[in-house]
Amino acid sequence: MRQALEPTQSPAWVIRQDGLDPLRDSSRESRFAVSNGFLGVRGGRAVNAGAQPLVPPCTFVAGLFDSLGAEQPIPALVPIADWLQVRITLPEGPLIRDPDEVSSHTRTLDMRRGALLVGGDLTGVPGLAFSLRTLRLVSLADCGLGLQLIRLEAGTGEVEVTLEASFGRLDFGLEADLLVQDLAVWRTHSSGKRLAMAAASSLELDGQVLPPERTAPFVSGWRWRTRPGQVACFHRIVAVARGDTPDADVGGTAQRRLGSATRLGWRGVLAAHEAAWVRRWRCSDVVVEGDPAAQQALRFAAYHLNGAANPDDPRVSVAARGLTGSDYRGHVFWDTEIFLLPFYTLTWPEAARALLMYRHRTLDAARAKAAAAGWRGAMYAWESADTGAETTPEQAVGPDRKVVQILCGTQEQHITADVAYAVWQYWQATGDEAFLTGAGAEILLETGRFWVSRAGLEADGRRHIRGVIGPDEYHETIDDNAFTNVMARWNIRRAAETAGLMRARWPDIWQRLSHRIGLEDAEVAQWPAAADRIETGLDPETGLFEQFAGYFGLEHVDLLAYAGRSVPMAVVLGRERTARSQVIKQADVVALLMLLPEEFPGSTATDNFNYYEPSCSHGSSLSRAMHGVAAARLGYADAALRFFEGAASMDLADTHAAIDGGIHMAALGGVWLTAVFGFAGVALRDDGLALNPQLPERWRSLAFSVQWRGRSVRIAITQAGLAVTAVLEGGEPMTLCIHGKSHELSRDKPLEVVALGSFRACQASPLARI
Ligand code: BGC
Ligand code: BGC
Repeated sequence: MRQALEPTQSPAWVIRQDGLDPLRDSSRESRFAVSNGFLGVRGGRAVNAGAQPLVPPCTFVAGLFDSLGAEQPIPALVPIADWLQVRITLPEGPLIRDPDEVSSHTRTLDMRRGALLVGGDLTGVPGLAFSLRTLRLVSLADCGLGLQLIRLEAGTGEVEVTLEASFGRLDFGLEADLLVQDLAVWRTHSSGKRLAMAAASSLELDGQVLPPERTAPFVSGWRWRTRPGQVACFHRIVAVARGDTPDADVGGTAQRRLGSATRLGWRGVLAAHEAAWVRRWRCSDVVVEGDPAAQQALRFAAYHLNGAANPDDPRVSVAARGLTGSDYRGHVFWDTEIFLLPFYTLTWPEAARALLMYRHRTLDAARAKAAAAGWRGAMYAWESADTGAETTPEQAVGPDRKVVQILCGTQEQHITADVAYAVWQYWQATGDEAFLTGAGAEILLETGRFWVSRAGLEADGRRHIRGVIGPDEYHETIDDNAFTNVMARWNIRRAAETAGLMRARWPDIWQRLSHRIGLEDAEVAQWPAAADRIETGLDPETGLFEQFAGYFGLEHVDLLAYAGRSVPMAVVLGRERTARSQVIKQADVVALLMLLPEEFPGSTATDNFNYYEPSCSHGSSLSRAMHGVAAARLGYADAALRFFEGAASMDLADTHAAIDGGIHMAALGGVWLTAVFGFAGVALRDDGLALNPQLPERWRSLAFSVQWRGRSVRIAITQAGLAVTAVLEGGEPMTLCIHGKSHELSRDKPLEVVALGSFRACQASPLARI
């Protein structure tokens, strides 16, 4: 077991925290979480300090939502029982009573192996010394399994030791149907779901299994007398199953899962998990030379992204905080489609497909939402849980402790186009015909149809979208938000294109689908003209999009004057004044230029970026990441790097106010996007992949892999010599467009392009203050 408890040595693969600091535990719990798309366990301490662990490690199960009637009507992820609880006691009391008694305490997130390792030497009791090492993981090979290892080595002294392994919080808020030794089954109060947990644990003393004393369900105890050099090894395997119907046999599933895991043994469970991580890293690792902090940030991002999705479960999507915290109640936002999907689509298409299938499964709820508001087609919920119904709270307590109305659930409608965008991007990148014809087309058609009905034709001959909130949530009930309208127009055009494609290539499927959703040819025929009439707010003179009707006339606020603030601008100025000002919460037009660069010809992308960036207060964790990608694409490499660092440090260095509630998945997606879509300049085109790289000065090289229509391509970009090397590691020959020039890439020879002089000129950034 000793070897299993040794973290990876290379600092680029680990996040390490030395020393015990209970007061700061809660923020670290998010950062040190382990997850696998089904289970997520926060990094709290499992082995007791005093009577109770300070912050017990909280475990979430994807899709396990429940609400509690009128008292708590909004569905939230329910944290389940603490399967990691361990108490080690000596006759004097708990093994760890006080942080001061622990020397050389380290907590290491081993990102390469997907495990949290904790180690400490205990010297608090005179005459006694122990060395304690622990590991926890949730398996990437079988996502219903968790594993805990503990190794306790006695240094000096002899003493009676008791180790009690139990489950904490067995009464965690669901109704227990069954609670026996090592098996429990619960049901939710109102969502009709079931959950089961089964566990098996064992302790060996110097290699000999010691029989446990079992005193209550899920409680096993061992008692022995230590002698110097003696080693006690404890392991526990937990199996978890979720069922989405009240009669699901989750108990049987959990027991079968546990049975096969115990037959494999903990070493087998660990080996399968590590092998699964090797496969994930092979597809998703991004390697940067010359900037160790950026390297760590990219690994941290990919680690959490890989741990957040589950290719085998189309009933769930990734929450804004993944499975690492309770903020936003585990709800799913546009974060998934816009900030995360590109990572999955290009490195793990199976996971991307499952996430999009969640949107297909929830299409009926989106249709119902559109119909209830008097529109056609499908309008997705701004926040959704398991059913796809709208779950945005209607009120919240603001930072000034006043109750504020939240209008996002009715007004933040751009999410509908964002979902369509991700569907199209996935289709473009994978060419997955079964997905397009079986699910994607239906989403594209129903969302396009929604926008046509939503964008009402008015007396001026234009179609307007009134009363919305764009990505910048500081401005509510606005008309013609450029982001919403241009994305809506794009959505309608793609819907029309999809109809044409389906009709031509899969006429039988098209007939059945169009019949089922009641879509006549005459309706589709109106879409292109409807799209053309949508108001976009583009000023043809300046090339600037007005963020929404009336924005240009609002009060200008010089954000530099507030550079030292520690609270959001909406708090500094107050909600009302902020709403009357040009202060932006987060990338809005800037997000549009990242998503639809073709809408920004010539210098207009730069002009819009330069116009809007100074008014952006980055009041959302999504904002810097989006600015990073946009800045990198525009050639502002140094400013982009600062945005990249700002996005990465939110979770790595606690610079954002709320890390206790979970890590910021979208910001991490944005970190990956800044490297791959930004610095490498990857773009998905109909005829192949395009690259338009420009690295920050400090980066000597950048290398990563992408999946493209069944092919696997490894790309390396070096700063010196400005060379791009591409290797086709699997699949048919393809076209790679580098700096606008097409190259054929085949498996027999790597492609090397030295683009001396032709690389994007690095723009002198007007953003020196960033
Ligand atoms: C977010 C909204 C969200 C609301 C309620 C706000 O902080 O900005 O996007 O809908 O909280 O969860
Ligand atoms: C942002 C939204 C985001 C949500 C969840 C809010 O603060 O404004 O754009 O979807 O957080 O991350």
